[in-house]
Amino acid sequence: MKAAVLTKINAPLEIQNVVTNALDFGQVFVKILCTGICGAQLQEINGQKGNPAHLPHLLGHEGCGEVMGMGPGVRSVKEGDKVVLHWRKSNGIDAKPATYSHHCTKINAGPVTTFSEYAVVSENRVTPIPRDVPDDLAALFGCALSTALATVENVAKVRFGERVLVVGCGGVGLAMILAAKLAHAHPVIGYDISKKGNLVRALGGEFIQPADHHERDLAFDVIINTIGRSAGTDWLAPSGRYIFIGQPRPEEMISIRHLFDGEGQTIQATQGGGFNPTLDIPRYVKLWRSGALSNYRNLISHAIKLDEINFWIQQMREGKTARVMIYP
Ligand SMILES: [Zn+2]
Repeated sequence: MKAAVLTKINAPLEIQNVVTNALDFGQVFVKILCTGICGAQLQEINGQKGNPAHLPHLLGHEGCGEVMGMGPGVRSVKEGDKVVLHWRKSNGIDAKPATYSHHCTKINAGPVTTFSEYAVVSENRVTPIPRDVPDDLAALFGCALSTALATVENVAKVRFGERVLVVGCGGVGLAMILAAKLAHAHPVIGYDISKKGNLVRALGGEFIQPADHHERDLAFDVIINTIGRSAGTDWLAPSGRYIFIGQPRPEEMISIRHLFDGEGQTIQATQGGGFNPTLDIPRYVKLWRSGALSNYRNLISHAIKLDEINFWIQQMREGKTARVMIYP
């Protein structure tokens, strides 16, 4: 089966034909129907995450798939189930990572990887969903959308009419705009160095770039930072909440001078908004059934084949995309 393999830091992924080990305790064999490219994979390719000693390894952490087989002990899914593949842990066995090989070279994988035609993943990284949930929406429930919904609901606890700024308008940032609009925040403003105005406005948000921020009076109750670099801290209202969702680079410093404004400001970091796949994915499916997520396709700018992944990773780096979805 075909897979996009990270063999070298800062180099294009190699499309290789790989084979997988026999299913071990708690492992699930999944056919990947659709998967999104997340900023986290760009960081892995750049060498900002993980250990280069683990190369070569597989990538990808949000997807939609169909269960083709189960290892011993697996109970939460069965053959033929449609599933979300997610990086956050759900109920189920925390299985050891699968290994793959290519011409007898060992390829490592984490508990979940998705940039391949098929994947062996841990039971606690898949959650079954009804058949009629669209593949692309299901994949977005693996990271971008679930992270955004959970951050807005559980961490930022956005209230009606609050002013929200989203720093960075990639896939996760755009999903934050969708989620903040769902919470009836106002205004909801996206901020990015790249021209993302059309994407943000399609979701009902407003858009500013560094060059035009001085033209308006900026004070936000909530700032959600998806870029891992501190930005816009001066625009936090007294008593506002500043939330980091993207992992900062090691050298990143945050000034805490403003923290005593008003009744005291809050700076918080969150891992995926505390999203709990077992509890939250069924709830998000119902949210979709209610019609509230009917505009989710505005989060997706391109649908591609696995072979085209390197070109689109470069486009993402240049800020030219929203979420890019791969149909292996
Ligand atoms: Zn992600």
